[in-house]
Formats: sequence, structure tokens, C-alpha cells
Amino acid sequence: MSTTQLTLDEIYNLARTALLNAGSNEEMADIVADTVTKAERDGSHSHGLFRIPGYVASLKSGKVNKNADPKVEYITPVLVRCDADHGYAPLAHSRCLNMLTEAAKTYGIAMAQITKSHHFAALWPETEALAEKGLVAFSCVNYMPMVAPFGAKEKVYGSNPVAFAWPREGKPPVVFDMATAAMAMGDIQIAARDGKELAPGIGLDEKGNPTTDPAAIDPNTGDGMILPFGGYKGSHIAMMVELLSGPLLGETVSFETKKLDNNDGGPPAGGQFILAMSPELTSGTPDWGTGADSLFAKLKSFEGLRLPGERRHKNRLDTGPRTVNTTLIETIKNLA
Ligand code: NDP
Repeated sequence: MSTTQLTLDEIYNLARTALLNAGSNEEMADIVADTVTKAERDGSHSHGLFRIPGYVASLKSGKVNKNADPKVEYITPVLVRCDADHGYAPLAHSRCLNMLTEAAKTYGIAMAQITKSHHFAALWPETEALAEKGLVAFSCVNYMPMVAPFGAKEKVYGSNPVAFAWPREGKPPVVFDMATAAMAMGDIQIAARDGKELAPGIGLDEKGNPTTDPAAIDPNTGDGMILPFGGYKGSHIAMMVELLSGPLLGETVSFETKKLDNNDGGPPAGGQFILAMSPELTSGTPDWGTGADSLFAKLKSFEGLRLPGERRHKNRLDTGPRTVNTTLIETIKNLA
């Protein structure tokens, strides 16, 4: 695989130009390019430049609103509703996270209900942003059917990521952000692109037989399907994500979403559930961090154990160029 070194500014400009050329207004192009650049900076490659062709496809097809203008309002003092106006999710976050933060800091707990949003990124940016303001955050989104529920041989669930962030005084938050599928779809596509075989237990082929061939699993290019992580337990968490980011918000579940999507390769319209809690108010003490720090110190005492988020935060310290697949760069440049 041929690679090219790009500075973070070059990554940002490559992404922004592609989005602007596809018709996005400047506000959304700036915000999405920033999200993409942060993904590359942190080493979240499956949600960085790799996503630009999908972002562009949905702008060009008209599925995503090039001039989206999300509307945000308090439905109750602790429920923030954000109608994303069919724009990309980071734009909705830029409009609603401050109101969510204010409500959680005032009342102890608050929820954001985001609808008509197109989420094509990692979930750590929004949960980590809330934790950086001193809040405990949880978020999830459903997608389009690509995961077979435990016991089934049909795609029903999305890869349904869940993200959780815990704030720490003077240190980066502890953040986990993971698909409830055995492997995120982007990583399966990257493995297929790079001709790599997968470990057993990741997915099934079109007939429902186990396979390690990423191309046979990829639900976008064939009739294969991914398995949930952790057998029936992961399957139930994936079901929870369907419900929290779908019916709870007045939005669709993944297999219904597909019927409404134009299959242009970009993300479908859907909901996002975000919960924010003030540990100071819920614990009743300004020393709420002590117990958590003791757990993290215990965990760190085990050789070889690292906290989730640490890899990204370490990568972030490097402000130098990033290694990017050369073919991907050419593809993005040729999108216009
Ligand atoms: P990974 O399996 O790579 O990682 C999951 C979490 O575990 C991360 O927080 C990671 O931290 C942590 N982790 C990984 N390895 C270790 C380790 N050895 N020790 C301790 N912690 C570890 O993530 P996934 O592949 O499941 O998901 C990738 C991304 O895909 C997520 O950001 C998710 O939001 C996104 N996604 C988005 C979708 C969408 O619809 N928008 C759909 C599905 C997935 P660290 O980051 O520090 O490595």
C-alpha cells in the first residue's frame, strides 16, 4: 500500500475542499473537516479521510442538506431537542452541546434528542467534549442493518456504537467508544481494501456461514453480515442502542431506516441519544473524582493494561504529519 505524509492542515484542507466542492455551505464544511482532521490526528482512521467519499456522495445526491440549519430548543428543562435539518451530526453538536451542558450542570442530568441527523463519524468527539466540561457523558446511534442479532442470519441491527466519557481533573477524560458489532464496518472495509483476512467470529457470508474474508462479510458490497460482539450479551446492547437512538427519540430503527435511504454510500438520516450528568451534583461532593481516580490507578497498576482513550490522547501529542493512503488522497481530489 502506497502512503503519503500529510500535515494536519493539509488533511483539513483536503477534506474541506471536497465538502465545499460537493456543495456544502462553509459552516458545515468547516465543522465536518475539523471532525475528520481530529480523527486522523488521533489515529481513528476508519472515521477520518476514509469517510470523505461517503460524505460527498450524500451531499451530491441531495440526501444531506447542503445548507442545513439545525434548530435547538428545550422541550423540558432537562430535554434538549435538536432537529438536525438533515445535516451532518457534527453541525448538530455544535448547536446543541452547550445547551445540554448548561442543563446538566444546573439540574444534574440532561438528555439531548437529536433527530434527522446524518452521523458518519466516531462518537468520542461529542462525549469527550462534554467530559472536558466536567460532565459524565453517554451516547449512542443506530445506523443501517449490517449486524445479525445473536441466533439470526439476517442483518437487523446497525453497527450501533456506544461511547462513554468520564471527566478527570487536570487529565484527559477516560473515554471508550466502540461499535457493538464485532468489528466496525469501516475497519472491515479497510481490511477488504488492503486484502487482509479477519479473525474468526467477526462475520457471516451471504448464506450465513462463518467467514474470515472481509469482502464476503461487508454488508455494503454483498449480502454478508457482521456478528455482534460478545454473543447474545452484545446483541442485547445493540438492541438497546436501536431503541435509545430510534423509538425513544421518535426516530427509526436500523432495518426501517434502510427502507427510507437512497443507498448513496453516505450515512442515513437518524437519531442520536446523548446523556450528560454532573458528577458534582449527583455525588453531592466536590471530591467526586477521588473514587474514580482510585479505580483508574488500580487499573493502571496492571502491566500491559491501558485505559480506553489513552491511545488517541497519546497520538494527539504528535503534531506532525500523518500517514495517509495515497489512493485515498487521489480519490478525494478527484471527487469534484
Ligand atoms: P475499537 O475496538 O478500536 O476500540 C473500542 C474502544 O476500546 C476504544 O475506546 C479504544 O480506545 C478501546 N481500546 C481498544 N483497544 C484497547 C486496549 N488494548 N486496551 C484498552 N482499551 C482499548 O473501536 P471500534 O472498532 O468498535 O469502533 C471504532 C469507531 O467506529 C468508534 O469511534 C465508533 O464510534 C465508530 N462507529 C461509528 C458509527 C456511526 O454510525 N457513526 C458506527 C459504528 C462505529 P482507544 O481509542 O484509545 O484505542
